[in-house]
Amino acid sequence: MEIQLKDIQNEFDYTGELTIAPFECNNDEITPTKPVTVQLHFKKENDKILVTGTANTTFQVNCHRCGTPYEETLPFEIIETFANMPEEEEYKIASGKLFLDDMIFDNFRLNLPMHYLCKEDCKGICFGCGKNLNVENCECGK
Ligand SMILES: [Zn+2]
Ligand SMILES: [Zn+2]
Repeated sequence: MEIQLKDIQNEFDYTGELTIAPFECNNDEITPTKPVTVQLHFKKENDKILVTGTANTTFQVNCHRCGTPYEETLPFEIIETFANMPEEEEYKIASGKLFLDDMIFDNFRLNLPMHYLCKEDCKGICFGCGKNLNVENCECGK
């Protein structure tokens, strides 16, 4: 997904979708179940382009307590800067283009939660008998 620098005379709005392949983050397998949708606003400021906007995606991940895969929804915000001579944490304008994929993926990763629970009161797995206590009753009485 890319934007031509020449299309941003002053300000520019952009809506798009980015498909992201499954990836690992903090030992969690993140499997996107639909593309990341982005609504971005580009604004020229001197020789830099400011990008602000919102994004939304859903992905499948394993619950930290019971291990069952479930779907998470993750809305997040994007505030970034593109520049010809990027400073730290800025993205480079390359060949007159702004390539958005890395920027969107970086923001996706940064906004991932540290803990995943399939539901707030997930009962988890019994340490004694290994039953998933959300769907079965413990047989060992622990
Ligand atoms: Zn769970
Ligand atoms: Zn048990």
